[in-house]
Amino acid sequence: MSRLPVMRPWLGQEEADAVAAVIASGWVAQGPRVAEFERAFAARVEAPHAVATSSCTTALHLALVVAGIGAGDEVVVPSFSFIATANAVTYVGAQPVFADVCGRTGNVTAETVERVLTPHTRAVVVVDQAGVPVDLAPLRALCEARGLVLVEDAACGIGSTYGGRPVGVGADLTAWSFHPRKVLTTGEGGMLTTAREDWAARARRLREHAMSAGAAERHAHALAPHEEYGEVGFNHRMTDLQAAIGLVQLDRLAEVVDRRRTLAATYAKALDDVPGLHPVADPPHGRTNFQSYWVEVLDDYPLERDDLLAELARADVSARRGIMAIHLERPYWRLARGARLPVTERLSRRTLVLPLFHQMSESEQARVVDVLRDAGRAA
Ligand SMILES: *Cc1c(COP(=O)(O)O)cnc(C)c1O
Repeated sequence: MSRLPVMRPWLGQEEADAVAAVIASGWVAQGPRVAEFERAFAARVEAPHAVATSSCTTALHLALVVAGIGAGDEVVVPSFSFIATANAVTYVGAQPVFADVCGRTGNVTAETVERVLTPHTRAVVVVDQAGVPVDLAPLRALCEARGLVLVEDAACGIGSTYGGRPVGVGADLTAWSFHPRKVLTTGEGGMLTTAREDWAARARRLREHAMSAGAAERHAHALAPHEEYGEVGFNHRMTDLQAAIGLVQLDRLAEVVDRRRTLAATYAKALDDVPGLHPVADPPHGRTNFQSYWVEVLDDYPLERDDLLAELARADVSARRGIMAIHLERPYWRLARGARLPVTERLSRRTLVLPLFHQMSESEQARVVDVLRDAGRAA
């Protein structure tokens, strides 16, 4: 029996052909394919503007810069997230303030955010953790009432819906990831979407060293106009090689999400008669893409989370610990002193992520369930 990975990207000949065509075109850096991917992606997530970036982390960084967040500002973020959510706040010199999450969704709520607001709060970053849509409407109302910028970290959220529309629609700025661990991949890559034209235009300049005329634009002329640099920018660009892959992947998105939801339903049904394991599920307000299928190990399961991970590893099944708690990592110890995050700490200690990928077979999934069931009996 071979090792079962926790995730395997679904890439094939079409992606390879698309990359080959970009190479043959002679233009591999940010250019026409990136522009095309931005248009297609914006249409897919119902966003007026999309700016492609090198990652979700750099998209979050740009989001905070264009929103004017900086030194002296506090930005509320969940601790129950990948560390990049808080790091982006640190990059702009602002201070992350950690909010707890709801135990069922793993997401912040208007109540958990409101508890940590101060007169210095300028923005709130919400996350669609593991693809589960955050309940945005109450958070939006809270932010509007207080004049706070609402940023959505939808790194895991492509293909998830909130109230029947793509996640990200209701935020001021939304950041997406195309890392292979996510549902749509370009190898590395990200996107920033927003309804604000001025913010999109500035983000577009800032990702390319704040040049007044980008490389692709200047290339269109034999005698290129001299570009100017109005502020200190960054190199947060995506390449045309990546965008070409992204365009193929975007065409497959609906099929990929369907498959993930089918596999998730099979897990949910099988785990129904394994007491002590509580899996992630759709919240009442939306549908998840099941980017990560996480399960909470409850008190009435005979093993603790780490022992269950070891048991799975013995059967050559790679599961992973669940989502981390950022405030327990060294860079954020000092900031988080005194923070009360009981649900975050419980979930990050008790959850694990089970293998779930497009090509996963019935027998592979049954292998995982067998381990969970057998370990659950051996008390
Ligand atoms: C993966 C992830 C990121 C980082 O995405 P990159 O594209 O790798 O920079 C940020 N936030 C969350 C919630 C993530 O899951």
